[in-house]
Amino acid sequence: MEKIRMTTPIVEMDGDEMTRVLWQWIKELLIEPYVDLKTEYYDLGLRERDATDDAVTVASAQATKKWGVAVKCATITPNAQRVEEYHLKKMWKSPNGTIRRILDGTVFRAPILVDGITPYVPGWKKPIVLARHAYGDIYNSVEARVEEGGTAYLVVCDKDGNEVSRRTIHSFDGDGIVQGAHNLDKSIASFARSCFNYALDYKIPVWFGAKDTISKTYDHRFKDIFNEIYQTEYAAKFEEANIYFLYTLIDDVVARVMRSEGGMLWACKNYDGDVMSDMVATAYGSLGMMSSVLVSPDGNYEFEAAHGTVTRHYYKHLKGEETSTNSVATIWAWTGALAKRGELDGNQPLVDFAKKLEKATIDTIESGYMTGDLIPMFKKEGITPVKLNSRRFLEKIAEKL
Ligand code: NAP
Ligand code: MG
Repeated sequence: MEKIRMTTPIVEMDGDEMTRVLWQWIKELLIEPYVDLKTEYYDLGLRERDATDDAVTVASAQATKKWGVAVKCATITPNAQRVEEYHLKKMWKSPNGTIRRILDGTVFRAPILVDGITPYVPGWKKPIVLARHAYGDIYNSVEARVEEGGTAYLVVCDKDGNEVSRRTIHSFDGDGIVQGAHNLDKSIASFARSCFNYALDYKIPVWFGAKDTISKTYDHRFKDIFNEIYQTEYAAKFEEANIYFLYTLIDDVVARVMRSEGGMLWACKNYDGDVMSDMVATAYGSLGMMSSVLVSPDGNYEFEAAHGTVTRHYYKHLKGEETSTNSVATIWAWTGALAKRGELDGNQPLVDFAKKLEKATIDTIESGYMTGDLIPMFKKEGITPVKLNSRRFLEKIAEKL
């Protein structure tokens, strides 16, 4: 067979541990035999980040701005223990955080559904795509403890430092705590646009909830910005695509999501997204079946798996023991990037190949061949699931492909 040609490269961001092992095997077994793969390669493995003082991470994000499409392997975010393990110069920041800051993007997470694995919420028949606003609120807040008798104020000054307003938060008649959070109109607006664009791409409705009845200035601002951008820029396009935008209180959204059959984009404020993404991911099954894409408001895409580097499996792998690590979400990172590259370049064979690889992966699992994490969840009449090791699973997909 003649290999599928690519005209424009994909930015390839390599990573760490078990996912780095899977990364090589996915390319070797599932992509390179069929695609004349063109990538601009950046090694985001922890050793290389340390050696380049993290310049490689910044360069990979800038390359994504240039080429528009990236695929990223999971990477270690160092903590004190990793600094020792890898003899690091410094506790480098999270590469995902660095890339997100440069691209100013929103992360969308979507579960990969297969017949035979029923979500813990059995009514969920379609994916719930979760978008988390990754800026502000408690994640960039300042906090203090206050002693009995103390008073905390909310003071706002103008650009010359003159006091514009001063409001008492609380006069403390006992020891307590206080927190100051902020957000930016610009960041909320680009979050809203990213969500509306994604919804148009995938033809799914957008649900957004905040607590504007209680938070009459802060959360209300989110509601107003979403409504305003929707009305002025998206209402007509949504109508044409036969989708809709729903704003309601966050608790109402939660209730509606539970009763729904899925199939919507759920836009979440930062904290809601942090919490709800773990709930939604767990309800759909394994972390190995959750895909993720960072979309910037100016249309750059970075595809990855939602899970981490699966450290425990990697240590087993290093000892020469067999692992059964789920590569589905990492395969989806590749198919997402290849399909988007194909779409942007008008390269239909590349788009078709990505869809075929996804189908071969799903067919493999549905016919009973899977990694260990899925075995306890898989229930399909007439099929006894077979547990394959990490590499055998990929070989099985290659046979189907
Ligand atoms: P993790 O790598 O997602 O793994 C947590 C556990 O979830 C694993 O030990 C495994 O459970 C299960 N699991 C996750 N993905 C799996 C898969 N593909 N197949 C089978 N089981 C899977 O999270 P972590 O242990 O908290 O973090 C490990 C490292 O990854 C850390 O250094 C962290 O900084 C990094 N991380 C990176 C990203 C990213 O790059 N986007 C995201 C999160 C974490 P069992 O051990 O029970 O089998
Ligand atoms: Mg969380």
